[in-house]
Amino acid sequence: MAVPKRKVSPSRRGNRRAHDALKVEAFGECPNCGELKRPHHMCQACGHYNGREILPVDA
Ligand SMILES: [Zn+2]
Repeated sequence: MAVPKRKVSPSRRGNRRAHDALKVEAFGECPNCGELKRPHHMCQACGHYNGREILPVDA
């Protein structure tokens, strides 16, 4: 069985855990209108996705 050669120092352990606090953002800003939208979803406010208008905005 592979076994770690050295004990991980408290400093290295802290460095590794430095990114543990990052969490997934449930919403992001639409680049077109600035409205909050779900990532990988079309913007509900302006119908844009990936810089193009997918759906015309209903008036
Ligand atoms: Zn938008």
